[in-house]
Amino acid sequence: MKAVRIHEFGGPEVLRYEDVPDPQPRKDQVLVRVKACAMNHLDIFVRTGIPGVTLPRILGSDIAGEIAEVGEYITGFKVGQRVLLAPMHFCNRCAKCGAGLQNQCREFTALGNGVDGGNCELIAVPAVNVIPIPDTLDFNQAASVPLVFLTAWHMLVGRASIRPGQTVLVLGAGSGVGIAAIQIAKLFSARVIATAGDESKLEKARALGADHGINHYKQKISQEVRAITNKEGVDIVFEHVGAATWDESMKSLKPNGTIVTCGATTGPEVKFDLRFLFARQLSFLGSYMGTLGELYEVLSHVFAGRLKPVVDRTFPLKDARTAHEYMAASQMFGKVVLNP
Ligand SMILES: [Zn+2]
Repeated sequence: MKAVRIHEFGGPEVLRYEDVPDPQPRKDQVLVRVKACAMNHLDIFVRTGIPGVTLPRILGSDIAGEIAEVGEYITGFKVGQRVLLAPMHFCNRCAKCGAGLQNQCREFTALGNGVDGGNCELIAVPAVNVIPIPDTLDFNQAASVPLVFLTAWHMLVGRASIRPGQTVLVLGAGSGVGIAAIQIAKLFSARVIATAGDESKLEKARALGADHGINHYKQKISQEVRAITNKEGVDIVFEHVGAATWDESMKSLKPNGTIVTCGATTGPEVKFDLRFLFARQLSFLGSYMGTLGELYEVLSHVFAGRLKPVVDRTFPLKDARTAHEYMAASQMFGKVVLNP
């Protein structure tokens, strides 16, 4: 089959579109023909090199396709069925996995990170990863859901325990997680303040339900938040930007407020004054993807049409290099999807 692999870490030039042997599914696995694989910032981090990635590696976490083969030990699936894949690898036999806390398993990793992913034509996965999709979702839309909607759900619901009527500041509204967070927060009847780098992205964020928009290049986030909230601040800041926004995120919180973060796109090192943390009784929460149970929970809302994936544009898999360059330029609103 054809696949995009990296044999070394580096810029987009290390992505190689090449022939690799077809995966040979085990008797307890399902072979899926990949129709769409959505990109995430994780693809760029894996390409440039993060701990735990061995080479060569096929990138790509978010996969939708058709079942091509069903292992002998598996029941309940049939060839040709349209599915998406839970974007995670876990052992499925430790205390954490048994408790449904897959993202705390010692083997936990994303597809395309610690194990091979979906930038290819065929992928073999355990049956536990395979989730049928309704006809209302095309493959590009289905591939645009798993990682970002799961991540945003775990952040807001699993970690920050969002409650109806709260005010949520969503940074980077044009990103995949931002788009998911706006919609999930609205599902909980929260008031949403979204930030983005230009007016057209803010307009799209409002169309998804954001109540207020802040241009984070032209306006000072905490000042605008103060004005919008009548000096109160927000209950939850949805962070994934990191160094560039951390100060503003802290200053935007009301007393007892929470920052929940899943990433550090602009850099991982931040500073804060401990007196500010304890005196204002703030919470800083880390969040890493989510559990399989949470994936089913958020998918139920996607399948019912209450949460909507947003596809920015598609590229043929062979043009993965161009897609990486496009993504690094941050011009998109929604997901960039590769089609084998
Ligand atoms: Zn486990």
